[in-house]
Formats: sequence, structure tokens, C-alpha cells
Amino acid sequence: MHHFYYKDSELYVEDVPLRSLVERYGTPLYVYSAQTIIDHYKRFDRSLQDIDHFICYAVKANSNQRILKLLVELGSGFDLVSGGELYRVLRAGADPQKCTFAGVGKTQSEIEEALQAGIYSFIVESEEELLEIDKIAAKRSTKAPVAFRLNPGVSALTHAKITTGTDLNKFGISLDLIDEVFEKCSRLENIYCRGLQMHIGSQIQSINPFLEAIQKVIPWVEKAKKKYGAEFFDIGGGIGIVYEKAMESGTEAWWQERNELLTLNRYAEEIVPLVKPLGMKILVEPGRVLVGNAGVLVSRVIYVKKGIAKKFVIIDAAMNDLVRPAFYEAYHQIVPLKETAHGPLEVVDVVGPVCESSDCFAIDRLLPEVKAGDYLALLSAGAYGFSMASNYNSRLKPAEVLVWGKQVQLVRKRESYQDLVALEEQLS
Ligand SMILES: *Cc1c(COP(=O)(O)O)cnc(C)c1O
Repeated sequence: MHHFYYKDSELYVEDVPLRSLVERYGTPLYVYSAQTIIDHYKRFDRSLQDIDHFICYAVKANSNQRILKLLVELGSGFDLVSGGELYRVLRAGADPQKCTFAGVGKTQSEIEEALQAGIYSFIVESEEELLEIDKIAAKRSTKAPVAFRLNPGVSALTHAKITTGTDLNKFGISLDLIDEVFEKCSRLENIYCRGLQMHIGSQIQSINPFLEAIQKVIPWVEKAKKKYGAEFFDIGGGIGIVYEKAMESGTEAWWQERNELLTLNRYAEEIVPLVKPLGMKILVEPGRVLVGNAGVLVSRVIYVKKGIAKKFVIIDAAMNDLVRPAFYEAYHQIVPLKETAHGPLEVVDVVGPVCESSDCFAIDRLLPEVKAGDYLALLSAGAYGFSMASNYNSRLKPAEVLVWGKQVQLVRKRESYQDLVALEEQLS
């Protein structure tokens, strides 16, 4: 479900034609739909209503402060992976008691900042880290809440770069080692075991890896509750979204015809009966599924270049703006702002201007014929889009706009050339 659709052959986001946004703010431009994020959040929250739970939005998916604030207003908690993310969510008004802090390499200063803020729980990924948190908590004469990230040793059946739940990944604590870590924890004075966590990967499109992993770790969750007084079980994020047919997937009807797809409701239907008997607080850490289909990257065609073997549509967005295709070989559906349903189609490569062969958004893609000056939207770009953007090739990061009904808000300005050098030594 999302709020991008064609009306009178124009691509709209909620009540606003995208063309009016590019005319006002230029390209490349990230455009987000507030209502889509709200719908996803509420749907997920409602589907978990039978259990004591809270949602910790994974900030790294999209960390724009206005989006964080929107989620704060909905009552969301946050899953953090850096001091920078903690800083952002506190500025957005988040309740620290709904924040978890994960990541394999938390630094001393990040641990101090999180203790200072009073977060709900650290998600601890190693015994080494546990000792460090204990030491820092002792210095501050406090007792730090921790949860252990269990590595259930299951494959998430997703892209290798976003698989996290096997013994070959750096994440979490293997089930063979966890009893030792529990023991260790119970002997440390400045730490207490508040819960257990798992997160097996991202863009997972079937329920089975989740079920398999939860079933595998449940015995340890029960043990942590009984023996160490743990109160919560955090089952992570990772629910996938639709990329291939992103445009079509906007309507409820489309989803209803596709029982095989993993929706938030189906996820909850399968998961809730498994975790409810634990009688614990259940946390979930969705990132992509809340914001992914709520954003698009709009770009202008600079040239259509005819080569000997191929035709290249060269657009003004590049891998620095949206790195997923280059990084994960990810697919993003590409549609014109002006619908040309009956126009001629052609097979093209859609590429950016960056000096790398991997700066390519689509290879041999069948698209309506376009010419220089036309606009294209890369769909499903709301997650791991802007948050992974860089200044490579000294390109300016794009602006970001949030639309809510008829309301349009510029939530991040386009960078300027001055911004590029602002933190460097100032040459006179
Ligand atoms: C990235 C991440 C998530 C969110 O993953 P999605 O696939 O975006 O839902 C949740 N928890 C942890 C620990 C993560 O690192």
C-alpha cells in the first residue's frame, strides 16, 4: 500500500502532482508520503494489539528528522545503531525508554551517551562489549539494561550483503556461547539482563526464516525470563517490501489477490501465536517496511545516448543519491512522471553521471520512450535511499520533501557547493 498513483496521466503523491514538486525544488529530489508511513505504522501496531509490544523503528532506514518526529507522534520507539542516531531521535522528541541501541562496535562515548539518555536497553553483541558496558556503568554508578542479540544460525534467504543471522556473520552471539554469557552477566554488578533480541537480515520475503529463527531461540528466551528476570523479547526487523511491481502494489485490491506475499498482517498472524505464550513484552524493529514504499527519487533525463549495442538514458540522479542498485544489485521500478501508457516502449540502460560502471539503475529495462528533459521516478526509494547518500564525485546530496495530503514540506534543503567544503580547511 502506498499513495503514489496516476491521475490524468500525471504521477501524484497523495494530493500533489510530482511535477509541481520538481518545478519548485529541482532534481534529483526525494519525495515522501507521510500518509503511507502513518498507514504502515498503524497497521503494524494494530496487528500486534493482542500482545504487550512496542515498535522500535530502525532509524538507519531513513533518518530524516521530520520523519522521526512523525513517528514520535505516532508513539514509536527507535532502534539505534550509533550515537548520531541517538542524537537525532532525542532531538525529534523520542522517549528514550522506547529506544534500543544495537551494533557490534559501540564505542565508549556512544555507551556513555546512551546511559546518559536513559535508553530502554542496549542490544549486546559480544561478551567483550558486555564487559565494556559494565565498566562504564560502574564509573557512573548505575546499572545498565542489556539484551543479548542471539544469532540463531538461520539463513534469511535474502541478498548476502543483508544476511545477518548465520555463524559466518559478525552479528550476535551464537546459541552455543549464550549460556556462558548469561552466567557472566549474572556475575557483573553494573548490568542486568532485561531481554533477548534477534535480527536475521533484511528484505525477507517469506515468513519461514522468521518462524524458524524464533522457534530456535525461544528456549533461551524462556530461560532468560525464568532464571535472569528478562522482561522482553525483541524479534528484530527485516520484513521485505515490493520492488518489482511497486507502482501496482499501491492498492488494497492488488494485495488481496496475492496471498503469497508477506504483509504486516500475515507476519503478525504467524508470529503472535508463537510469542504470546512467553508472556513477555515483544519488540519489533521494522525499518524498510515502514518507509520503503513511502518514498521515490525523482530525476530528470539529461541525455538519451545511442551507443552501438545499447541505448542509455542518462539521468541526473546517481549512485551517490541512491546506492542500492550498485551496492546490492537492487531493483527499483522506474516510471515516468507523465504516463504514456500507449506510447512506444524501448529497451534501455538507465544510468547516472558518476564515473563508475556500477552507477547504473537499470540494465536492459523496457521503458516508455523518453527524451532529454523528461522526468522519471525511481520507486521504493524511501528506505536506505537518502540515508546511504554520499557526496561522491563532489555531487550535492538531493533535497527531501514530505507530502501530507495537500501539504508540502521541504524537510531537507538541497546541498550547495559551499556545503561541500564547509568543514575543510578554508583556503584564503
Ligand atoms: C537494519 C536493522 C533493522 C531494520 O531492518 P529492516 O530490514 O529495514 O526492517 C532492525 N534491527 C537491526 C538490529 C538492524 O540492524
